[in-house]
Amino acid sequence: MKGIFPIHRFRELETPFYYYDTKVLRDTLAVINKEVAKYEKFSVHYAVKANANPKVLTIICESGLGADCVSGGEIRAAIKAGIPADKVVFAGVGKADWEINLGLDYGIFCFNVESVPELEVINELATAKGKIANVAFRINPNVGAHTHKNITTGLAENKFGISMADMDQVIDTALAMRNVKFIGLHFHIGSQILDMGDFVALCNRVNELQEKLYARQIIVEHINVGGGLGIDYAHPNRQPVPDFAAYFATYAQHLKLRPEQSAHFELGRAVTGQCGSLISKVLYVKQGANKQFAILDAGMTDLIRPALYQAYHKMENITSEEPVEAYDVVGPICESSDVFGKAIDLNKVHRGDLIALRSAGAYGEIMASGYNCREIPKAYTLDELV
Ligand SMILES: *Cc1c(COP(=O)(O)O)cnc(C)c1O
Repeated sequence: MKGIFPIHRFRELETPFYYYDTKVLRDTLAVINKEVAKYEKFSVHYAVKANANPKVLTIICESGLGADCVSGGEIRAAIKAGIPADKVVFAGVGKADWEINLGLDYGIFCFNVESVPELEVINELATAKGKIANVAFRINPNVGAHTHKNITTGLAENKFGISMADMDQVIDTALAMRNVKFIGLHFHIGSQILDMGDFVALCNRVNELQEKLYARQIIVEHINVGGGLGIDYAHPNRQPVPDFAAYFATYAQHLKLRPEQSAHFELGRAVTGQCGSLISKVLYVKQGANKQFAILDAGMTDLIRPALYQAYHKMENITSEEPVEAYDVVGPICESSDVFGKAIDLNKVHRGDLIALRSAGAYGEIMASGYNCREIPKAYTLDELV
């Protein structure tokens, strides 16, 4: 092991591959459960879209978390991993009929509805099955988040949710339908949020909306505030477990819940982000005019976040102790954006060295593609390798 990695085992494996440190994952889940237990009415649904690897999902299921799904495929993956249907919520702006039917057949806890046309279809399909679907409305709270523009979701300009101005009317529409039951409000303002002030702003907005509903004698049973808690990409070793204590305390302090109400959270990145690394091999070290490139066998098809969001992943040469030099670290894909980082300090790099791209447990493996006819990377866990 150099640091936290079983390198002798890595040497036997085909690269690139994902590696999940299941100890970090279990520690993270233990902290979530410990912090949530402080508040009677809080519950957490893991956002499956961050990482649906069956080995990871099974561990999450064992910890007792529910699942937040955004497709029929994710509902199937969650149920297959053992997560009970009554702990599954289903969000998404474009739910297909078969996906709604799947949710109805499993009897999932709640559909997070994003438009009136969708509500009508859910009512219709539920009627055909003689069932009643629980629905929550995803309200666009017009609250910004201090994060990358591609991962803010709660502004009026974004495609998500129902506008606040339409909320009353949509609720009335639902109350008049026979095969849907209106049980909650849903929000989600974005991802990789580290400023607790953004969550405070959401709480204040939810409180305002609740006052309006209260004036109409409507008390919503479930308030789902979504996810979005960020992780420390710069220091995966220093902070492997995000600050869940501060996160839940922020909501406990600022979100006004009535005694009959419960709060739901949908955390994705914060649950799985720090447990994963993408392990790749150096193919070539190439000297450029005024820089040197470390060319890896992993590329944007394996981990797209740097190309898609200019995201930073800490990189480490886990097989060299030689003095540090600066490299542009790039993949083999025929795209100029296939760059993991520029002027990255790495212990001197040789062909065959293993490079770990850290904090890749969320929105990593799940976003892999077959572009350039490449294989989807395999994944291994600490449990399997030691
Ligand atoms: C993506 C998503 C989440 C999870 O976001 P994270 O930033 O990974 O915590 C939660 N809820 C909804 C509706 C989402 O789309």
